[in-house]
Amino acid sequence: MTFSLTHLIGGASVAAARHLPVYDPASGEIHAQCPDGDAATVAAAVDAAAQAAPAWSALPASQRARWLHRLADALEARLEEFARAESQDAGKPLALAREVEIPRAVSNLRFFAAAATQFASEAHHGEAGLNYTLRLPLGAVACISPWNLPLYLFTWKVAPALAAGNTVVGKPSEITPVTAWMLGELSREIGLPPGVLNIVHGRGPEVGTALVEHSSIKAVSFTGSTAVGRRIAAHCGPALKKMSLELGGKNPSIVFADAAHPQLHDTLARAAFQNSGQICLCGSRLLVHRSRYTEVRDALVTRAQALRVGDPLDPATTQGPMVSQAHYDKVLACIQRARDEGGRVLVGGERVQLEGRCRDGWFIAPTIIEGLGPDCATNREEIFGPVVTLQAFDEFDEAIALANAGDYGLAANLWTANLDTAHRAAAQLRCGIVWINSWLMRDLRTPFGGMGASGIGREGGLEAMRFFTEPKNICVALP
Ligand code: NAD
Repeated sequence: MTFSLTHLIGGASVAAARHLPVYDPASGEIHAQCPDGDAATVAAAVDAAAQAAPAWSALPASQRARWLHRLADALEARLEEFARAESQDAGKPLALAREVEIPRAVSNLRFFAAAATQFASEAHHGEAGLNYTLRLPLGAVACISPWNLPLYLFTWKVAPALAAGNTVVGKPSEITPVTAWMLGELSREIGLPPGVLNIVHGRGPEVGTALVEHSSIKAVSFTGSTAVGRRIAAHCGPALKKMSLELGGKNPSIVFADAAHPQLHDTLARAAFQNSGQICLCGSRLLVHRSRYTEVRDALVTRAQALRVGDPLDPATTQGPMVSQAHYDKVLACIQRARDEGGRVLVGGERVQLEGRCRDGWFIAPTIIEGLGPDCATNREEIFGPVVTLQAFDEFDEAIALANAGDYGLAANLWTANLDTAHRAAAQLRCGIVWINSWLMRDLRTPFGGMGASGIGREGGLEAMRFFTEPKNICVALP
């Protein structure tokens, strides 16, 4: 049974004339119909957001916080339903959606509810009068999110935008639109003032472009591919529109000779394969000191073989399918390219054929490749699947050079028992986030984002609140 989603515009659920099929990646079957919006849909949503902006921005911060808490409460009360929907829409193991991603969406709403009441601005005096800074909401803003962590990333943008006093037009990925639609319905149920949160659906090149280019949109917060990020920047630059771009990654996991953490092997495997490698922060290039190479390689191969690729709804499953047929084809083509470049596939490298309801699903075995250097496409381009490469190094400087090779600069994780090595390496890595002896530990107050082809700007904590406000300096002459 498939069901039809709707746009959320001005507090109303708006049916669409045309739809796009939404697939369950585990079965390859259509499970929902996504509205196929257009520029007129976007214009209506932006108008609604612009009209709602003055009243929303005039609310005391504590009242905006209360609305975010109400939305968080409603989401938490329906956590299981959202987790199932996310699992089916994106093909992620149900436990991952239930234990990590939907709870994180709740945390995003609560975290920025608190931020609304704690956000403060600067005052300066003693040099030229008394200066204070107002941080004013921008108006109607666009929040565009990808398919890999659908509700988690959608709320990561929408929550700070609303907390800072803006109204939002959100655009989730057309590949995984269901939980954003459900969140929109929840916002109606709790009675969020109409127009404060609008959600439009459809294809990126049509709906996304119309949203980014709408003259009443004051800022664009985008998470997605580097290619689309560049297109958005090409509009926002000349239009002088504020933008925050969280883009792709090709992150190194670096194991120094003295790495001694008991969770080393397990965490490297998680960093490589969590969510089928479809997380921008995954460690997809494993750089290992030559003295540890064989041990780490063998440990990773063992863990890859132990992963249970299967139906995301089966509690025993630890790895689900690729999100779409197109992405499945792309990842398999990347593995073939790695072979063509001379890589040796140690494990995986092929489709996993399942039975029953998953027989037509887009499953790929966890894949480990060795024998490729830093200059090949496999080690430079984002694959975004369950594919990791291994490279050996001898010296500290060589490890840093390998890690910094390429255009991306999102995240790195490094493993060593030596504080000096850890801090020296962390300082020299060209990326926005470094984990030492860990991976994916997240404190929501920290700046989140990347360098180079991984994006412009930072999200998280005060960075997000600052992005979604305009500072105004006011100078008072003191007698
Ligand atoms: P994508 O760029 O194809 O799409 C992202 C969103 O942008 C979707 O909602 C899409 O409909 C929309 N879109 C597409 N074309 C558009 C256009 N011309 N104008 C405006 N919007 C448009 O990305 P994806 O395939 O959904 O997501 C995977 C990518 O996201 C990977 O590259 C991954 O690394 C990246 N990502 C980055 C982060 C981060 O924080 N840096 C987090 C998650 C994912």
